Amino acid sequence: MKLEIDQRQLVDEIEALATFSDAEAPAVTRVVFSDTDLKARAWIISRCEKAGLAVRQDAIGNIFAHWTGSDPEAPAVGTGSHIDAIPNAGKYDGVVGVLGGLEAIRALQRAGFRPTNSIELVMFATEEPTRFGIGCLGSRLLSGTLSVDAAEKLSDGEGETLDAVRKGAGFDGNLRDVKLSAEYYKAFVELHIEQGPLLERARIPLGIVSRIAAPASFWISLEGAGGHAGGVLMPDRKDALCAASELILEIENAARASGAMDTVATIGVCQVFPGAVNSIPSRVQLTLDIRDTDRMRRDRVMQSIERKAQEISAKRQVSIQFELVNADDPADCAAQVQTALADSCRRHNLKFMEMVSRAYHDSLFVSRIAPTGMLFIPCRNGYSHRPDEFAAPEDIARGVLVLAESMAQLSA
Ligand SMILES: [Zn+2]
Repeated sequence: MKLEIDQRQLVDEIEALATFSDAEAPAVTRVVFSDTDLKARAWIISRCEKAGLAVRQDAIGNIFAHWTGSDPEAPAVGTGSHIDAIPNAGKYDGVVGVLGGLEAIRALQRAGFRPTNSIELVMFATEEPTRFGIGCLGSRLLSGTLSVDAAEKLSDGEGETLDAVRKGAGFDGNLRDVKLSAEYYKAFVELHIEQGPLLERARIPLGIVSRIAAPASFWISLEGAGGHAGGVLMPDRKDALCAASELILEIENAARASGAMDTVATIGVCQVFPGAVNSIPSRVQLTLDIRDTDRMRRDRVMQSIERKAQEISAKRQVSIQFELVNADDPADCAAQVQTALADSCRRHNLKFMEMVSRAYHDSLFVSRIAPTGMLFIPCRNGYSHRPDEFAAPEDIARGVLVLAESMAQLSA
């Protein structure tokens, strides 16, 4: 079977989808269930139907475009990603996996391929946390990683509940029907831009993901004692910001000392109260995002951070509390998916690199119910989530070719 990827049509479609945006070009802003997002979804559905795929949507707004195989009862081979975009983002994050997945299916159709297992393109709803504060809502619910009760408690920045927002957008089904069984997919592959610089630096066109890192995030609250910046002498102080400073550096040390490059820890928010030039900080709120490809190692680093926090707290008489926001398990990619991807690369003499996905994706959650893999293509300077995000047409086409062949192998 010789596959021809219609690079031109695919690039035109990526450009066309980018016009559904609430930001001025080249920036793309497409927040889930906004009018713009709903128009973009309708456009995607029309493209899928034009390719002869049967489209359904679930109660959270995941879109499934189904190419029925010769054994319709057998589990499907899935591919897909997301099209929602954070404010002021680019054209490629997620989109390459959705429109590239569609082009992979069309290329297989044009080549006369007949799948045994059905092939299904998925467009996951609300991958970005922009609106509801939590990422990958569609894939979390689909995989049962997030309970319906927890989802129903979510609301957006305007205080509108998830239920009200989705129903207002026309998705009024029962969220309990979103979860798919572990037999639904035989395998799942997501094509995505790398969102990092490694492929470009190494001049390697494709990355086959072996593991997907996952974050745990915490609020850290430090409470000391305030006072006049002139009146309180140094030995009498319980400065919450000084304690926070020490803790931040201990967190950095703990991540560095984990023994693995995959451990990363970030304090991204630091709020100081009362925040006045002549007032000793009495209270500090920090966020901690700690990620790893190994859950046990991440937990060990977290324990050492908490031990250090106790020492700092005792020494400085400042209370330090950790509140867990969420903790996802990292995932290993499935051997059979990695093999299918590598086989296709070898057939075309395409170099590939085995990689870790350091950002998390819908695939992390799909992996809870299906053997899952990811294929990365380079993006310029590793830039993502910004208007100058760019992936070269040839790189996208190569990714789509390998995706299509892998799906053919998995569904034959
Ligand atoms: Zn993405």
